[in-house]
Amino acid sequence: MATLEIHDLHVTVEADNATKEILKGVDLTVKQGETHAIMGPNGSGKSTLAYSLAGHPKYTITGGTVTLDGEDVLEMSVDERARAGLFLAMQYPVEVPGVSVSNFLRTSATAVRGEAPKLRLWVKEVKEAMERLNMDPSFAERNVNEGFSGGEKKRHEILQLELLKPKIAILDETDSGLDVDALRVVSEGVNRVRDTGEVGTLLITHYTRILRYIKPDHVHVFANGRIAESGGAELADQLEAEGYDKYVKGGA
Ligand code: ADP
Ligand code: MG
Ligand code: MG
Repeated sequence: MATLEIHDLHVTVEADNATKEILKGVDLTVKQGETHAIMGPNGSGKSTLAYSLAGHPKYTITGGTVTLDGEDVLEMSVDERARAGLFLAMQYPVEVPGVSVSNFLRTSATAVRGEAPKLRLWVKEVKEAMERLNMDPSFAERNVNEGFSGGEKKRHEILQLELLKPKIAILDETDSGLDVDALRVVSEGVNRVRDTGEVGTLLITHYTRILRYIKPDHVHVFANGRIAESGGAELADQLEAEGYDKYVKGGA
């Protein structure tokens, strides 16, 4: 079973000619087959954690370790992270002009699997995955993220997730900007992946709404750059009722 281990992670960013510490000692272990939710107020550093795990150059790791099955993730290039089995869906996905969804997915799958998927099987695989997500077949010919609506971006994320079958998936604000129907379709996709038992999911979200559809095994409250509290699914219910006030007071 693959294990992602984050230990005492410290991360800074440069902003307004100053170095600001955003992550202040994050400890977290996610195993294949587990679903973790990270919840917390805006600005607490949740996306910074996702970007840092993705290897975004804007974020400087100043301390701590991240390993996947003992291998140093922080030493890996972005491609190597994907090949090692990490999947990162970003809160603000980038446009890839001139690259169709279909080509993008096949290139990604080739990188992750180490060989190009057989074309006929691949076309079938993509078609079926798109049908499950209620996506129009013409979507495959569009350029990646170009003019995508919020819902289309999220469906595209889940499509990648289903096709790439990573060991550990990190989904940042997968629920934001979705209407109830899209939220249901996206959640069903995450649950299908989860039910394989082969993917560990780190679901990062500000709102408790998506957790009505996806039941996490573990819930962590993120505040002021670190995990302030961890618990089971009941912690999400408590947050829904009480909000984040008690974690924010006396913070920052
Ligand atoms: P969250 O996802 O929990 O809302 P973020 O990780 O986006 O929080 O942001 C945490 C803090 O780090 C905020 O104060 C934000 O302004 C700052 N921050 C994050 N990324 C950058 C960046 N690239 N440049 C400058 N400041 C950043
Ligand atoms: Mg935010
Ligand atoms: Mg965020």
